[in-house]
Amino acid sequence: MSSPPVSRDVVVVGAGIVGASVAYHAARAGAAVTLVDSGLPGAGVTADSFAWIGASGVRTGPAAGLRASATEEYHRLGAELPGLPVTWSGSLSWRREGGAPDAGPGQTIVDAAAVAALEPTVRQPPEWAVWAPGDGGVDSVGVTERLVAGARAHGARVQLDTPVTSVRRDAAGQVAGVETAAGPLSGATVVLAAGVATAALSVPLGVRVPVEPSPSPLFRLRAPAGLVRTVVNTEDFDLRQVAADRLIAAADSAERTLAAVRSTFRGAEGVELLSTRVGERPMPVDGEPIVGPVAEVPGLYVAVMHAAVTLAAAVGRLVAREVVDGSVEPALSGCRLDRF
Ligand SMILES: Cc1cc2nc3c(=O)[nH]c(=O)nc-3n(C[C@H](O)[C@H](O)[C@H](O)COP(=O)(O)OP(=O)(O)OC[C@H]3O[C@@H](n4cnc5c(N)ncnc54)[C@H](O)[C@@H]3O)c2cc1C
Repeated sequence: MSSPPVSRDVVVVGAGIVGASVAYHAARAGAAVTLVDSGLPGAGVTADSFAWIGASGVRTGPAAGLRASATEEYHRLGAELPGLPVTWSGSLSWRREGGAPDAGPGQTIVDAAAVAALEPTVRQPPEWAVWAPGDGGVDSVGVTERLVAGARAHGARVQLDTPVTSVRRDAAGQVAGVETAAGPLSGATVVLAAGVATAALSVPLGVRVPVEPSPSPLFRLRAPAGLVRTVVNTEDFDLRQVAADRLIAAADSAERTLAAVRSTFRGAEGVELLSTRVGERPMPVDGEPIVGPVAEVPGLYVAVMHAAVTLAAAVGRLVAREVVDGSVEPALSGCRLDRF
């Protein structure tokens, strides 16, 4: 890996939950930050996320350390940004077939009586479920907006409705900022946090960022108050209550999801579909985050990943440390672009 570009003059491209978090943490660390987005904060795939902070259970892999710290980092962020819209509900995962798995970090295996206590409207509580009491869910756009407001409060300049057309370099090849539809923005470091668009922005620089759009539907459902209390993950859906009369579900088919919700919960007969949105998740080809400086282009840094809602609080703080302070964060060591 090349050394992180140390800079107090940073352009962050993308005001999704990743870029907003990087901008907030970098501005808080004292950098002169410009956050630029072609639209509004959180209006990319972040707006169509199930937004489960699912930090429990991951034991191995390059992002295991990041995941392990994700919950704690959200609690830290919530203390820094009062009113951050996070709901610490815990999560319950079960399958009707097969035996219970071993509990992973932050998990316990619970029986049918415990499931019935946690989710009183489940008609037939499963024999076992994985209970992760530390998990939660966020209003992903609300968190992004709060991060942008926090960045502004620390002096960041936020330029919305401004598509970035290219990354600028000086005669020596060092990054000098970005070119936008509204003119150039200067900065000695550019952080590409543009989700699925990160790959296309990197191509003219001769850099391949192997991330592909991975479509995934999100259903919004009208539902009675108090139907679901935790984040519920089954073979049929990921489901959680986001308002008194609203559920969201991440699943493959609206019809199958409606049928499964109605048959799983008492009082769910009248649940109806309000909308379907298909978001394009920025999915690195090996499924692991791509976070770090780009060796070939001094001053360029990339931050693109799946499960970015879970990881945003942790990644934003660590990227800011690398970019602003020049530290090399061990928790990011498995996430570098040069592994490809
Ligand atoms: C159905 C579904 C369920 C999901 N469930 C979960 C979950 O439970 N937990 C979890 O952690 N993750 C989940 N995800 C994934 C998560 O939503 C994403 O990982 C995350 O939102 C990615 O954030 P981002 O900031 O990288 O991307 P984005 O939100 O897409 O942000 C990128 C930003 O870059 C901007 N941009 C792009 N190109 C340019 C340009 N040229 N100039 C200026 N700006 C530009 C865009 O406008 C956008 O605002 C889910 C996703 C989906 C679709």
